[in-house]
Amino acid sequence: MTHATTPPVVVPPAPSERIPFNKPFLVGTEFDYIQQAIRFGHTAGDGPFTRKCSEELESILGAVRVLLTTSCTDALEMAAMLLDLDEGDEVIVPSFTFVSTANAFATHGGKPVFIDVRPDTLNLDEQLLESRITERTRAIVPVHYAGVGCEMDEIMRIANKRGIVVIEDNAHGLLGRKAGKRLGTFGQLATQSFHETKNLTCGEGGALVLNDASFIERADIIREKGTNRARFFRGETDKYTWVDFGSSFLPSDILAAYLFAQLQARNDIQQRRQRIWNRYNAELEEWTRENGVRRPFVGSDCEQPFHMFYLLLPSLAARTALIEHLGKRLIHAVFHYQPLHISDMGRRFGGRPGDCPVTEDVSDRLVRLPFFNGLTEAEQTRVIEGVVTFRC
Ligand SMILES: *Cc1c(COP(=O)(O)O)cnc(C)c1O
Repeated sequence: MTHATTPPVVVPPAPSERIPFNKPFLVGTEFDYIQQAIRFGHTAGDGPFTRKCSEELESILGAVRVLLTTSCTDALEMAAMLLDLDEGDEVIVPSFTFVSTANAFATHGGKPVFIDVRPDTLNLDEQLLESRITERTRAIVPVHYAGVGCEMDEIMRIANKRGIVVIEDNAHGLLGRKAGKRLGTFGQLATQSFHETKNLTCGEGGALVLNDASFIERADIIREKGTNRARFFRGETDKYTWVDFGSSFLPSDILAAYLFAQLQARNDIQQRRQRIWNRYNAELEEWTRENGVRRPFVGSDCEQPFHMFYLLLPSLAARTALIEHLGKRLIHAVFHYQPLHISDMGRRFGGRPGDCPVTEDVSDRLVRLPFFNGLTEAEQTRVIEGVVTFRC
């Protein structure tokens, strides 16, 4: 029996068919490894699974050391502590990034200096770098947005000339490359995230990557609550005592067990993500051309790790309308970073509207489509249909 006088244009799918922006993905071995970690009895930090994860990451990256942390935020805080910042020391960060990239350094005494991003990659604009450097500049923190590498050769050249430390915020970029070199291996330090929304996850987690051996000893101390515990256990000192600043940055070995399962399955995970990314890119090409929308730019010397798929709409109004259009079809698309330089905290550090025009522009226009390892073909078909039935 039907009463409808005007047939609905779109038949709304049942609520169970909601397509989230992100959904945690299980490779299958997590439960077994977690059980092993619990049964083994070393559930605090630096147990056997932590060691396996560190070794795996060290071999992927060729880093001198990789220290697992409870988050990328914590890894950034460890990096800030390693810099030993004095009041007024400056750290250059892109305005278009997650809060932690700036907050970690501000929390440890640094002054974030915001720099704009390139309109193509949305990465820190290396051409503006010299203009932001002062005699107080201690570090530069490039973020490889969407896992597309920054112009690292130029950034390293400028930094090395002045003895400025480079810390790559590589939360999006694990397994990506720039000019053949792994992201996370250019700077003296790099940070990784294993948050639920990242390619590989254990819920909450991170890592500090050390590419410069001179940081190892203090990094161990800072991570071990300011104690020389690591040296003590290696038998290099007969006292286990308080020697420096520090905090508790070790994830439980239970989380490391979860992460190890994902690290082992990384090739399968990356293949899934590549397939999803390539399909969005191909099937939305015509629509983006016809509607003045831009797809992600990936330079020919970049191997991206397929972290996200975004669209740059012509205007804020168009973006708002697209998110609404998809929302009516139970598809959850989301925008991304708000400019840090004009956030409440950014303004306290001197940020003013107009300082980073590209960031201010793109942050209003960017939308990210549902993108996760377990996105099915049918779900992706619905997302693509949702997008192409929208007119800017
Ligand atoms: C996710 C993310 C972080 C924070 O990672 P957590 O592990 O959640 O602390 C930092 N920087 C960037 C660029 C990120 O995307």
